[in-house]
Amino acid sequence: MMPLSYFGSEVLRQPAQPVIKVSAEIKKLIEEMFETNKAANGVGLAAPQVGVGKRVVIIDLSHTGIEPFALVNPILIRGRGSAEDSEGCLSLPGIFLPVPRFEKISVRARDEKGRSIVIDAEGFLARVIQHELDHLDGKLFIDRVEDKEAVERELLALKDRLAQIALTGKWEQDDE
Ligand SMILES: [Zn+2]
Repeated sequence: MMPLSYFGSEVLRQPAQPVIKVSAEIKKLIEEMFETNKAANGVGLAAPQVGVGKRVVIIDLSHTGIEPFALVNPILIRGRGSAEDSEGCLSLPGIFLPVPRFEKISVRARDEKGRSIVIDAEGFLARVIQHELDHLDGKLFIDRVEDKEAVERELLALKDRLAQIALTGKWEQDDE
């Protein structure tokens, strides 16, 4: 388990560095990212979200029957169509806002064994991959939300939540 980086952390706003070699260190990072994501009930995680400025993401949609996978040095090589749907982010807990994305994408990357792969995705999987790839460029989903007033409002509420997390290590979500 690795501690999550939250909104306001510099690492979330810096472009991540390419991975030169999928070394044992990178494999361990991938493993720990899977564990951290699972513990937080996430569907994906980018290395900057655990404070590591490297171009590594993991996706875990195992609840939909898709095998979890890692992408090292991923590059979006094609995007088609557009779709808008609600997104959230482990680094901005409690914020959910609609984000426009490509509907279908192709991504080239290395897998956790260093092999070159191309992934074609659509729908929710395509959305999650695009969200994680953005993290590698220091971009957050709120940057793509068109309703800027909603973002301002949500960021104000996030402040209190993050203060609570800093104090207690977690955020107690109200069941309303
Ligand atoms: Zn995120």
